[in-house]
Amino acid sequence: MRVFRVAVLKGDGIGPETVSEALRVLKKVEEIFGVTFHFEEGLIGGEAIDKKGDPLPDETLDLCKRSDAVLLGAVGGPKWDDLPTEKRPEKGLLRIRKELDLYANLRPAKVWEPLIDASPLKPEVVKGTDMVVVRELTGDLYYGEPRGVFEEKGVRVGINTMRYTEEEIRRVVRKAFEVARRRRRKLTSVDKSNVLEVSRLWREVVEEERKNFPEVEVEHLYVDNCAMQMVRRPTDFDVIVTSNMFGDILSDEAGVVVGSLGMLPSASLGDKHALYEPVHGSAPDIAGKGIANPIATILSASMMLRFSFGLSEASDLVEKAVERTLEEGWRTPDIYSEGCKKVGTKEMTDRIIENMERLRDEVA
Ligand code: NAD
Repeated sequence: MRVFRVAVLKGDGIGPETVSEALRVLKKVEEIFGVTFHFEEGLIGGEAIDKKGDPLPDETLDLCKRSDAVLLGAVGGPKWDDLPTEKRPEKGLLRIRKELDLYANLRPAKVWEPLIDASPLKPEVVKGTDMVVVRELTGDLYYGEPRGVFEEKGVRVGINTMRYTEEEIRRVVRKAFEVARRRRRKLTSVDKSNVLEVSRLWREVVEEERKNFPEVEVEHLYVDNCAMQMVRRPTDFDVIVTSNMFGDILSDEAGVVVGSLGMLPSASLGDKHALYEPVHGSAPDIAGKGIANPIATILSASMMLRFSFGLSEASDLVEKAVERTLEEGWRTPDIYSEGCKKVGTKEMTDRIIENMERLRDEVA
């Protein structure tokens, strides 16, 4: 029997609530597909600060390094807002991404037909949208040196440096090609090569790499044009690959195009490690009330099945079960609309698990 080791970092706020539900879904996957997950919990974020004085204790990092994948909830909350930046829960997140060298961030943005009205775009524009933004996560303006605010001739000057080596570009571009190859085989590379030298190098590397993926169609778009096209013709996109800063903005835009925060999963991949987490934060305003939407975390676990464990069939089953549950009208309050059936976190998961069983029986 195949055994997969999963580091489980529930974090703060609604993190423990939604991760616990995702674990229930994974246990159903064990039952249906005859695999075994070995779950081990670690501390991160505010809870880790309270218990260990560090948002990412060494034992948590060790746990993540010896696991096959990491499933994370969310960190942060008002209790820790007044701590200095270095000691805040969010610092734990930034450090874990860096320590595990997670350089490719994948954010799928898919319109779920029953939630089509949650999009700010017209249904006829957004219907069928299903894209993934692959954002480089460890370079660019966010890390380049020199950086800082300096004084030159009595005037303050702010400086950040946009910098990429060709290898940093190549590894994320390859990941994006691999994702595109498994989907609809279209890759949009986004840059600003009409103005920026870094972008020119980016485009050159994409052109070099496309030779290794002849089955994938490639287009290049300038970032400003991409931002427009994403709201004009979102269904045309399959996989988008771009640098850290452009990806920061475009992945949020893609999320808004398809609707609710409670539905958006993500994966951060490196060569040795992978981390899966919902896009949303710890939602302290609803923590402990049993009403958080567990779907973003469940879909993050589903990405883990696909990308870390190669269990595509199991991943498909989870996603179909989510779709079926939404079609049946079950809604947590954040995605509720009139005429639907309102449920809490646990009950939503119950319905999804029931649908996994039903869909399995339909196929058998
Ligand atoms: P948030 O995503 O936590 O919440 C924004 C709004 O969306 C809130 O009204 C919340 O109730 C709602 N919401 C979010 N997820 C939901 C879900 N699954 N179901 C139902 N409603 C949901 O963002 P915020 O309020 O800006 O931040 C709250 C805390 O989370 C802060 O401490 C912030 O630093 C932290 N944060 C953490 C992460 C992370 O861990 N990756 C990401 C963003 C924010």
